[in-house]
Amino acid sequence: MPGHRDFDVLRPATLADATALLLRPGAMALAGGTDLLPNLRRGLHEPRWVVDLGSVAGFGDVTCDADGWHLGAGMTLAAVARHGGLGTELPGLAEAAASVAGPGHRTVATLGGNLCQDTRCVYYNQSAWWRAANRFCLKHGGQTCHVAPQGRHCHAAYEGDVAAALLAYGAEVEIVGSVSGPRRSPLHRLYRDDGAAHLTLAAGELVAAVHVPRPQRGTASGYRKARSRLAMDFPLAGVAAALRVEAGVLAALAVGVTGTNSHPLQLAGTDELVGRPVDDETLRALGKLVARQVTPMRSTVTAANHRRLVAVAAAERLVRELAAAASAAPVPGSAPRLAANDA
Ligand SMILES: Cc1cc2nc3c(=O)[nH]c(=O)nc-3n(C[C@H](O)[C@H](O)[C@H](O)COP(=O)(O)OP(=O)(O)OC[C@H]3O[C@@H](n4cnc5c(N)ncnc54)[C@H](O)[C@@H]3O)c2cc1C
Ligand code: SF4
Repeated sequence: MPGHRDFDVLRPATLADATALLLRPGAMALAGGTDLLPNLRRGLHEPRWVVDLGSVAGFGDVTCDADGWHLGAGMTLAAVARHGGLGTELPGLAEAAASVAGPGHRTVATLGGNLCQDTRCVYYNQSAWWRAANRFCLKHGGQTCHVAPQGRHCHAAYEGDVAAALLAYGAEVEIVGSVSGPRRSPLHRLYRDDGAAHLTLAAGELVAAVHVPRPQRGTASGYRKARSRLAMDFPLAGVAAALRVEAGVLAALAVGVTGTNSHPLQLAGTDELVGRPVDDETLRALGKLVARQVTPMRSTVTAANHRRLVAVAAAERLVRELAAAASAAPVPGSAPRLAANDA
């Protein structure tokens, strides 16, 4: 591979073997490779060992029981997007998966790889010679952050689509590691606010599965993504929401946002909107919550404030549409579905 030193590919058959191999210094996990391989080509990582998870037994399985949906981290995004049961009960998840990259990518790209994809920045996702000409940057090989040169913090943005939907559904991740053993934690704890190290996984740890509770009857949910190109592009901002309307007022509201911060956001403060009708005033209050919590920086070619405004507009429109669909739903238990329109 040009611009990269050689590495060995290891193909464990079990998660236990995979996590043991990942403890080797210089080892990296490979799932579908649609994020990792372009980054390797650009010389952004220099692994000695690449642990290919493609042969791990049962890694892509999906089941559903009283506890909810259990999705193996190796499930491909194409499988998530076309799964009938998921599309009916968790339409925002199916829509988010269907909006990732192009059809070819989605046949190999995985749920775990999407959640754990690297953060992105115009000064980072470039060839090695481009970055060398700019004296690299704080995140990789340099001394200065070109986005915020006065600081010592990386502001690269997390731009995975699927996490926003899973946050709106209150998902948990199951993490396995040779040293720590298995644990389950809310998805938002997988992330921290640091563009150079946005995952809280310890060395050798992997996301093994995602657990999503079954939405209550009458829940309406969806994902709205704004991007520069409709065909295939990362989100400028992506918003997912899950809500219920009872007797004309919000009975529940959860919102996930991606593309604007170094980690996907579970919007705080939505409980304050419960009990209110979904009118202009409530939507303005929702917009204010989004505007206060997103922190887009100059890490993309699109102006930071534009991304903030897009996130606000996407959240307001999505919640308005979902509330209308939920109010119109005649049968309790139906989950109104919205298309993954662009804002
Ligand atoms: C042209 C193009 C367009 C794209 N557009 C989008 C887009 O619109 N939206 C979007 O979200 N993404 C997009 N992507 C990025 C990428 O395709 C997706 O994030 C994809 O879901 C990554 O999954 P993967 O299985 O290929 O991950 P990989 O590339 O195999 O892995 C990604 C990272 O996650 C780690 N990893 C993989 N699996 C696990 C696991 N189970 N536990 C812990 N760590 C793990 C790897 O070590 C690596 O660091 C795009 C990529 C390309 C090339
Ligand atoms: S935000 Fe700064 S440190 Fe982070 S990748 Fe961009 S330029 Fe580099």
